Parts: sequence; C-alpha cells; structure tokens
Amino acid sequence: MYVVINPNIEIDRKRCTTPFDCKRCLQICPTAVFSVHAVRNERGRLTDKTEPGNYALAVSYRDQCSACMRCVEVCPADALTVEMPQEASA
Ligand code: SF4
Ligand code: SF4
Repeated sequence: MYVVINPNIEIDRKRCTTPFDCKRCLQICPTAVFSVHAVRNERGRLTDKTEPGNYALAVSYRDQCSACMRCVEVCPADALTVEMPQEASA
C-alpha cells in the first residue's frame, strides 16, 4: 500500500510578526505551501504591513510540501520548522 507522509510545518508567530512585509518563505517555496492573511483591518485604511500582528502566515497546502527546507534556510527570524513525522511503529 502506498502511503503519503506529509512533513510537519510549524510557524513560530512570536518570531514571524510581519509576514506580508517579509514574504521570503512565500516567494521561495516552489509549491506555494504558505499563504498570508490580514488579521486586523481598519475600514477605509490600508493595513500597515510593517506593524507586527497585522498579518499572519499560514500553512495552506501542507500536502504540497517536499521538505526541501528552502523556507527554513531563507527565514531571517528562524520562525519555521519543517520535519518529517516519526514513523509509526508497525
Ligand atoms: S520568511 Fe520567516 S519571517 Fe519571513 S514571512 Fe516567512 S516565516 Fe515569517
Ligand atoms: S520545505 Fe520547501 S516545499 Fe516545504 S514549505 Fe518549505 S520551501 Fe515549501
């Protein structure tokens, strides 16, 4: 039987505070695993992407992750962890 095992991807949001301004992991990921969304909105005003906490990074397509580690290497805040899950004992 063929079983697909996806890596575990952790985002430390205390370290990744301005993802829409940074975007490095989003730009380097070959399979577009990450997405970024607004957390705070002010009516009629552009949300300041440089203010911590206004945007949050998310893992949208974990099943597309090949564990290439490019995002981990490029992150300036050391905010990402990508690990293969421990094999379940047979
Ligand atoms: S590269 Fe790091 S700091 Fe930049 S958006 Fe991605 S997780 Fe956040
Ligand atoms: S390890 Fe590679 S494929 Fe997985 S999220 Fe990071 S850059 Fe994308």
